[in-house]
Amino acid sequence: MAFDPQSGRIDFHRAFASGTRCSCPQCGAEHPPVHNTLERDWRHLNCFQFQASIHAKVPRVRCGTCAKTTQVVVPWARPNSGFSLRMEVLLVTLCKTMAVSQVAQLPSVSDGRVWHTLDHYVDQAHAQEDFSTVTSVGLDEPLFPSFSASFHKEPHPIFFNPPPPLIREAFCPAPLVSGAFCCIRGEGGPGRLPP
Ligand SMILES: [Zn+2]
Repeated sequence: MAFDPQSGRIDFHRAFASGTRCSCPQCGAEHPPVHNTLERDWRHLNCFQFQASIHAKVPRVRCGTCAKTTQVVVPWARPNSGFSLRMEVLLVTLCKTMAVSQVAQLPSVSDGRVWHTLDHYVDQAHAQEDFSTVTSVGLDEPLFPSFSASFHKEPHPIFFNPPPPLIREAFCPAPLVSGAFCCIRGEGGPGRLPP
C-alpha cells in the first residue's frame, strides 16, 4: 500500500502469488497456462478524504480447450470495469437520486465512465424482466416523435422507448394500425382519429 497525503491518494497494490492457478473465464477449463499479465487499475471507495485505487497485474490465460486468451476475473471488480464492485454499488445507488454529472464528481471521473457502469446494470436488469403477466399496452402520444410506450403492469407501469416500426410490428395488426400510427407520428396530428 502506498499513502501520499500530499496528493490525497491511497494506492493498494495486489499481486497474484507465483504458481496461482486460474480457470478459463470463457469455458471454465481448469488450470490453463498463464500467457502474460496486464497492469490494471480500479477506482475504489475513498478512505476518509483520500482517493483510493487498486492496482494489479492480472493474468491472461491461454486456454487449449476453447483456444482463447482471456484475462481472468478478479474478485473485486467485474470484467471491463474501471471501478471496484463496492464503488459501483455506491455509484449506482447515488444515480437513483442524483444527476450522473454530479455523481461523477465523487470519484473525479468523466460522466461517460459512470454511464458505462449504469448501462451495464440497466441492461442486466432489463434482461431479467418478466413480461408474462402484462395484460395491456398503452401508447403515450404526447411524447411523440421520440415515441414512448408503457406496459401497464401492477403495481407500476413499465416504460420503454422502442423505434416505431418495432411497436407497429409487435402490437398492431396492419390495416387498422397504419392509420393509427400516422396519427401518432404527427401526420394527422396527435389526438385525432386516423383517416
Ligand atoms: Zn477456455
